[in-house]
Amino acid sequence: MAIRKKTAAVPGESVRVLLSRSRIQKRIAALAREIRADFQDEPLHLVGVLKGAVFFLADLARYLPGKVSMDFIAVSSYANGTKTSGQVRLTKDLDTSIEGRNVLLVEDILDTGLTLQYLVRVLDQRRPKRLRVAVLLDKPERREVPVSADYTGFKIPNEFVVGYGLDYAERYRNLPDVSVLTLHGKGK
Ligand code: 5GP
Repeated sequence: MAIRKKTAAVPGESVRVLLSRSRIQKRIAALAREIRADFQDEPLHLVGVLKGAVFFLADLARYLPGKVSMDFIAVSSYANGTKTSGQVRLTKDLDTSIEGRNVLLVEDILDTGLTLQYLVRVLDQRRPKRLRVAVLLDKPERREVPVSADYTGFKIPNEFVVGYGLDYAERYRNLPDVSVLTLHGKGK
C-alpha cells in the first residue's frame, strides 16, 4: 500500500509486522466485551497514558457500549545518561477528579512494570470506586516489579516494537500495525 511505503522505516532502521491491524482490532473488540461485562451498565472512565496509548484508547472506547468518558495523563522516566533510573514522574495530570468513579487505566505496553506501578499508586490514592488496568501489549520476560494488568491484548516476546501509537524517537506511531523495529549497525 502506498501509505505504508511512505511511512516505512528511515535508513538504518527496518520494521517487520508482528501484529496486523485486523488482529489488533479483533482483540480489542473482545477486550471491550469482557470489560463491559465486568462493569455491567456502570459508567466507565478511561484514563489513557500519553502518547502511546492514544490509538488503543480510541479504538477501545469505540467498541465499548454504554457510558464512557475519558481523560489523559502523561509520565516520563528520569534518565541517568542513556539508562532510565526506574523513577517515574507525572508530566501531565488528569483534568478531572476520579474519586468514586470506575476507572480503567489504558496503557500501551507493560515492560518492566515501573510506569504502571507508579500510576496505579498515584490513581489509587485518589479513591476511585474501582481501578482496573488494560494494556495492549505485555512483555512478561522484562518484568522488574510484580504488577499485572486486568486486561491484556497480547503477550509479546522481548523485542522493541513500534506502531499503533508506539514510537522510536517519536517516529512510527502512525503505523497501523504493531511491528518489531530493527536498528542496523546502530546498536540499541
Ligand atoms: P515500563 O515502565 O513497564 O518499563 O515501560 C512502559 C513504557 O516503556 C511504555 O509505556 C512505553 O512507553 C515504553 N516501552 C516499553 N517497551 C517498549 C517497546 O517495545 N516499544 C516502545 N515503543 N516503547 C516501549
